Amino acid sequence: ALTAGIVGLPNVGKSTLFNAITKAGVEAANYPFATIDPNVGIVEVPDERLEKLTELVEPKKTVPTTFEFTDIAGIVKGASRGEGLGNKFLSHIREVDAICHVVRCFEDENITHVHGEIDPIADIETINLELVLADLESVTKRITRVAKIAKTKDKDAVAELALLEKIKPVLEDGKSARSIEFTEDEQALVKGFFLLSIKPILYIANISEEDIMNGGTNDHVKRVQEFAAEEGAEVVVICARVEEEVAELEDDEKQVFLEEMGIQTSGLDILIQKAYSLLGLATYFTAGVQEVRAWTFKKGMKAPQCAGVIHSDFERGFIRAETVAYDDLLEYGNMQAAKEHGKVRQEGKEYIVQDGDIMLFKFNV
Ligand code: GDP
Repeated sequence: ALTAGIVGLPNVGKSTLFNAITKAGVEAANYPFATIDPNVGIVEVPDERLEKLTELVEPKKTVPTTFEFTDIAGIVKGASRGEGLGNKFLSHIREVDAICHVVRCFEDENITHVHGEIDPIADIETINLELVLADLESVTKRITRVAKIAKTKDKDAVAELALLEKIKPVLEDGKSARSIEFTEDEQALVKGFFLLSIKPILYIANISEEDIMNGGTNDHVKRVQEFAAEEGAEVVVICARVEEEVAELEDDEKQVFLEEMGIQTSGLDILIQKAYSLLGLATYFTAGVQEVRAWTFKKGMKAPQCAGVIHSDFERGFIRAETVAYDDLLEYGNMQAAKEHGKVRQEGKEYIVQDGDIMLFKFNV
């Protein structure tokens, strides 16, 4: 499964947030055959549509889909030079598919800040720079290697070298590889470079209890939002401490607690949803009287592959899929009515499944 890694400087609230994630998360007991790494938190993906479908179909049970966060150990400055936890940190980042960077936006004189004062942009740049430096090192090494082959006029090597030469000056400039625009061909090639600073990123602005109750923002948050906007990245504002408390509550208590605090939606719920879409993930549903269930797929996946998410036999024996868009089903109230209005489609092997599709797969066993 794809996973988002939680990173950040020391004392920004990573452990607090990760605690909230594991407390809110699914029970390890529900995964009897999987050994869950203590650094992995598996959470249900909140989805209103699943609730609506449950009201509509009244199944025996409803099963949400899940998402994984990985807690990456604290970074120390100088990671790319192999000091302290550095190399380990970088190798963990290599293994995740997206980065959730927790940035300290709360003041608290009792909790020291590594830079001595709250400066979220400096925090962001510290970690981004470590990734950039690590990438610069691997790109430089690769250039040396590929340049030799490119001399023989090997077409692939020539293309690769050109791409590496396009990336290098950007990194030298201290900028992340994700800021570069790649052509489709380049995109395919760049995957093979396993760059760190190219991974999709989301900033988590951790604010105080007071600020979350008073409108949920502050000047630090605004600076983070401006910075992120320039990068085309998103920001989720949370109060990790509040989320830790919320995570211990039952659903109905949770809503009451949030309302009392003047918060509309739990920051963690928003974080889960944003991290999910940052990874290019989407949800389709199966809706039967036994079970209404949400399934995760990667955007762009075709119907047989999506069927394979349920079971590999479904993919192998795929014949076709009967499908209706979520909005259409909701509008007409049931499958029969949706059918009468021509909203239920028969789709074949080439159908690209859309977020919110309700799928019924037909397959040979
Ligand atoms: P980490 O080093 O990034 O894992 O940070 P921790 O989660 O251990 O948090 C460091 C300190 O900041 C702890 O004393 C936390 O209780 C405190 N802290 C974390 N989140 C918040 C928050 O939202 N508000 C306030 N006031 N303190 C927080």
